[in-house]
Amino acid sequence: MATVHLRAVSKSYASGASGTTRAVESVDLAIADGEFVVLVGPSGCGKSTTLRMIAGLEDVSGGTISIGECVVNDVAPKDRDIAMVFQNYALYPHLNVRQNLSFGLERRRAFKSCWRGLFDSAYRSKRAGERAAITARVEAAARTLGIEQLLHRQPRELSGGQRQRVAVGRALVRDPAVFLFDEPLSNLDALLRTEMRTELRILHRRLRATMVYVTHDQEEAMSLADRIVVMKDGVVQQVGSPAEIYGRPSNRFVAGFIGTPPMNMIDGTITLDADSTLTFRSACCTLTLPPGRFDLDGLSRGHERPVTLGIRPERLSPAVGESNVSAHANVTGRVVAVERYGASADVVLSASGIRLIARASQECTTQIREGENATMTVDVNAAHLFDSHTGCALARAIRAPNR
Ligand code: ADP
Repeated sequence: MATVHLRAVSKSYASGASGTTRAVESVDLAIADGEFVVLVGPSGCGKSTTLRMIAGLEDVSGGTISIGECVVNDVAPKDRDIAMVFQNYALYPHLNVRQNLSFGLERRRAFKSCWRGLFDSAYRSKRAGERAAITARVEAAARTLGIEQLLHRQPRELSGGQRQRVAVGRALVRDPAVFLFDEPLSNLDALLRTEMRTELRILHRRLRATMVYVTHDQEEAMSLADRIVVMKDGVVQQVGSPAEIYGRPSNRFVAGFIGTPPMNMIDGTITLDADSTLTFRSACCTLTLPPGRFDLDGLSRGHERPVTLGIRPERLSPAVGESNVSAHANVTGRVVAVERYGASADVVLSASGIRLIARASQECTTQIREGENATMTVDVNAAHLFDSHTGCALARAIRAPNR
């Protein structure tokens, strides 16, 4: 196992007459030994390029990449002690599962073999020992992944999930310092993806291996990662645990990208009144906010500042009809849709042209009807504020607890 350290890593591609495409911009990232880090972001944000640079499949245009103590910028992929699992499995179609699993190890062994084996019996028995060790490793990996009964099958005789297990097994037998995963579950159906996610998490706990994983699926990132790296346009937006990224997004992009349904965003202004009341005003609501939660950086009393207020769907409580109770925490509007999922339901409200989604339990929404009025109570203690111009969160830094 090993650490992986990216220092100011950039990648540019030449792109026709227009010059260069900047795919990755000055990424700094220290991945700890045994950590499971997930790079996530929309298509084209530079996550695969970053992973491929760690693997050595792309040259870096600037910066350094270290695996363990060693800077690997000029080290060939096969010498980096990494194993990569791809979305398309990349199995050899003419080899059975056992041969697919042992192929890389056999090739290294064969490379070392030579005519010497014909004459030297001690050498021959050493080679036989190596072959037995490979068999043991293949069978151990097959047991770990629950594919022992498939060892004789060809890839075409396997389901998508079984093929992906074999692809993971091929990485496993190599016992690399770092596992790299490039969208490995994207070809699987939703149910299988969820199952495989759990299996990968269990595998990571068992191996305590360093794993770097790329996905565009924020839910996958949240469920797998020790730490998430959110990227956009080649730039890292935030690095943190799933709870930090969800609970304290650093900007409006991260807030909107992580979470399903996405965070509700309401454009408006805030004012700090003479009595220190912080008031948010928008087309659809006026809310009294707890001022202590926000970094208002020079907001003087009586002055307005344009902001976006963000509120997670589960922090809105829908109720039938119009209500004036605690009016400074309410939004009233017309219900345009109620989507029921069994245990929970999403209520979509239109208030002065602004759409808000609330997620609530089925019991709390049974009375709510499409086309009728409803009120959503905003949990103002869970509201986020973002600067209208920069999109940066106006959250007050949490003080580290005294040790
Ligand atoms: P992601 O994995 O987040 O979808 P990529 O890392 O594949 O994104 O791509 C990042 C950017 O780099 C995109 O704009 C993409 O078009 C560009 N890019 C990727 N590979 C190449 C290439 N070989 N040549 C030119 N541009 C590329």
